[in-house]
Amino acid sequence: MQITHDSVVLIDYTLKGDDGTVFDSSDGGDPLAYLHGHGNLLAGVEAALVGKTSGDLVEVKLSAADGYGVREGGLVAKVPRGEFPADEIGVGMQFRIGPTAEEARTVTVTELDDELVTLDANHPLAGENLHFQISVVEVRHATKDELSHGHVHGPGGHHHHH
Ligand code: ZN
Repeated sequence: MQITHDSVVLIDYTLKGDDGTVFDSSDGGDPLAYLHGHGNLLAGVEAALVGKTSGDLVEVKLSAADGYGVREGGLVAKVPRGEFPADEIGVGMQFRIGPTAEEARTVTVTELDDELVTLDANHPLAGENLHFQISVVEVRHATKDELSHGHVHGPGGHHHHH
């Protein structure tokens, strides 16, 4: 069957940057399962997969703006080390910070010295053009439960108890 709204789709994928750096890949793991048409993948990726079927290979190129956004300087902040609420800090570490759990966002430590911690709240792939190579592994109908939850259950999907 072809991929359409409410299809459950299993894909193998590799995501690379302009220079060929691999950002993410399902290589060596299970395929990724997603419910099509529910915003679970980037819109540009879902659009490219409409009408495809198992065995199809799809290449998708997205600009940074259509991917994880352009980098915003306003999302970088320097915080006095003494005020940072964690003892163990290192460049590359990520923390969830915010006034409440719902408003918290992921920040990455990008610089560190004795006095200041530099935190970047941009998505780690902000500013990167994205090159996806996608292989469609399986397409099936979603179950009623999957539709009401808006995500896939079982292999490659959410693992939770109902
Ligand atoms: Zn569920």
